Amino acid sequence: MTQILISPAKYIQGSGELNRLGEHCAGLTDGEVFAVIDAFVLANYGEKIVRSFAQSGIPLRVHEFTGEVTMARIEWLAAMPELRKSGVVLGIGGGKTLDAAKALSHLAGLPAVIVPTVASTDAPCSALSVLYMEDGRLDRYLALRRSPDMVVVDTAVIAKAPPRLLAAGMGDALSTYYEARACHRSGAVTNAGGTGSLAALALAAACRDTLLADGAAALDAVRQGEVTPAVERIVEANIYLSGVGFESGGLAAAHAIHNGMTVLEECRPMLHGEKVAFATLAQLMLEQAPEEEIDGAVRFCRSVGLPVTLKALGLEDADESKLLRAAEAACAAGGPMANMPFTVSPRDVVDALLAADRRGSLVSESGC
Ligand SMILES: [Zn+2]
Repeated sequence: MTQILISPAKYIQGSGELNRLGEHCAGLTDGEVFAVIDAFVLANYGEKIVRSFAQSGIPLRVHEFTGEVTMARIEWLAAMPELRKSGVVLGIGGGKTLDAAKALSHLAGLPAVIVPTVASTDAPCSALSVLYMEDGRLDRYLALRRSPDMVVVDTAVIAKAPPRLLAAGMGDALSTYYEARACHRSGAVTNAGGTGSLAALALAAACRDTLLADGAAALDAVRQGEVTPAVERIVEANIYLSGVGFESGGLAAAHAIHNGMTVLEECRPMLHGEKVAFATLAQLMLEQAPEEEIDGAVRFCRSVGLPVTLKALGLEDADESKLLRAAEAACAAGGPMANMPFTVSPRDVVDALLAADRRGSLVSESGC
């Protein structure tokens, strides 16, 4: 049994870190920095970023990124002559921009510095890029040869992003402990390529404890655009604890059920973490988890506005045949459902979804 844990070489988080990006990158290269920056971020924070590199005396090449992350586009970027003078690829923005920067660093064989400007998923710390086709369909999960060399998070920037994104990140992070625990029980091989370690399980447990303690307060603060200690802790939970926790602790039923939900048209407007939150409740039902644990998870979701019913996911009129279609996709061969410590059938998934819906409805109706 080989245990493997992977993580970014350095994780930096604080208010105003965008102003210190040049400083942070100084030790990584004698050459230029090639930056892939989200168009919205460039418009709002471009001046700050450029100034920070100028102060550190590091030449910066900026490539504005919009649209889809396709392999053709990454190969086109990798062939740019400017990249040959660069010693680092820097990605600043949301999921797609960061996936583009990570994939580019992989192709170019350069270190990656990743700067998430939202905390809506736990992807930034991972050694994985999700690539799409030109028409938006999923192309492939590109496994990178290593984790990002540095992840820098400016909490002041994250606090200005829409609160719904932070809540969705909490939904993605909520699943981490329960999935890591399931993998620990089954001895499953994680995304890191080995079985989970005590370290990964401990990070996942800290992630859950932080969410339950600080989630609601952090969301309130972000609604005011404020960075409080609760916001700092939730950003670390969403991005670092959940990121290392999922990758080295393992995925299981919650992400399998999320993947299944993506086949239903009704769920399309929902964010990744919103679907994962409800799928986590379904995993707890599958596991027949202790009542106290289920109650805590349902109440947490409710307190931060994450869906606790099928209706909230857009599945109000879903008949069982529709749920069965999603459940069959959730149990697809090669997916994370196989990491559960017991066999799960599509019928079990439908029953778990319905049980989670009934449990969530109780809390919703009681209003507490
Ligand atoms: Zn996720």
